[in-house]
Amino acid sequence: MIIDCHCHAGKGDGLTGPWDTAAPLEDYLRRAATSGIQRTVLFAAFHSDYAVANREVGRIVAGQPDRFYGFAFIHARHDRGRVAALVREAVERFGFVGIKVHRYDARISREICEVAQSYRLPVLYDVMGEVSICELLAREYPQVNFIIPHLGSFADDWRAQHAFIDPLARHPNIYTDTSGVRRFDLLVEAVERAGPDKILFGSDGPWLHPGLELAKVRALGLPPSAEQLVFGQTFLRLISQVRTLLATGGLNREFKRYFGPVTPSSRSAQLLDPWLVRRQEAE
Ligand SMILES: [Zn+2]
Repeated sequence: MIIDCHCHAGKGDGLTGPWDTAAPLEDYLRRAATSGIQRTVLFAAFHSDYAVANREVGRIVAGQPDRFYGFAFIHARHDRGRVAALVREAVERFGFVGIKVHRYDARISREICEVAQSYRLPVLYDVMGEVSICELLAREYPQVNFIIPHLGSFADDWRAQHAFIDPLARHPNIYTDTSGVRRFDLLVEAVERAGPDKILFGSDGPWLHPGLELAKVRALGLPPSAEQLVFGQTFLRLISQVRTLLATGGLNREFKRYFGPVTPSSRSAQLLDPWLVRRQEAE
């Protein structure tokens, strides 16, 4: 089984470039089928309101639950105070299994990491070359698995990508994906130093061709067992905890363990959010 861990879907509401305008899946799905990719992780394009964008992705995932996994896109600044509510809706209503954050929006926050921890969700965080943050994330949130896509830089900043291989190799909770990485020798070095179990196949579809990205990973010439890790086994391990929680109805229990009991008066999505509650207590 081959799982593409990085693909965008749905409409953005900007007009800056493809990344915030539209991520249509028709061509991607045809190309993925031809390439032997069976499953795909979807998250939104850039959007000014991720509650709206995540729901659109949620509808696509719910339409083909055997074909897609969903990640909730979160804006660390715009969504401040409502991260728990957004993630809760994404996980409990749509069965999403991860969080996506991009530094282009804002730097990742403790709020996001703590919500990820409570739901046992991996976080795919595009650091845009700011790879030093991995040191802080890995140590502050050892229970959260972080996937840093593009070997740390979609812009092909080889200095950042090379520097990133060090925290990738040292920290058990730092992972990467192969999407958009052009300097092949850096990918070879990442596999050699960090191990194939730290690297996930991703395409950055629909804007990059999944077959082309897959050919790149095949060209690494890994033994079949190592290739299977990259093609999906590691991804399935990273989402196994939240899937167990979903399957056993344990989500509420975990949420309470981290954020306290849900009282009848705090049932609205906004008040469920511990950061809002804490702020209100402080006032
Ligand atoms: Zn992407």
